[in-house]
Amino acid sequence: MRLEKSELEFIGFLRELTKTGRFEGAGLGIAKQVILSGQSSLNDRQRNLFNAALDKIIVDKCPVCQREVPWAEMALVVQTGACAECKPKTAN
Ligand SMILES: [Zn+2]
Repeated sequence: MRLEKSELEFIGFLRELTKTGRFEGAGLGIAKQVILSGQSSLNDRQRNLFNAALDKIIVDKCPVCQREVPWAEMALVVQTGACAECKPKTAN
């Protein structure tokens, strides 16, 4: 996990994911709590659920160029399958 990376970018990413319905069930509630109160507000059980939900969603690298994906572009990659540099080429 790369949760220690830019918290602001991470929260922005979570906002995008919750808007686009990527989280389900308990994961959605916990994601909303992180957006409002930060990860430090989670208890151990919530943190485990949250990490498990995230693991199903996030990608480490852009599937097209294999570049490491920053949080600022993660929502884009999750939704389109390509990072900001590759997206124009895939003509979405
Ligand atoms: Zn790419």
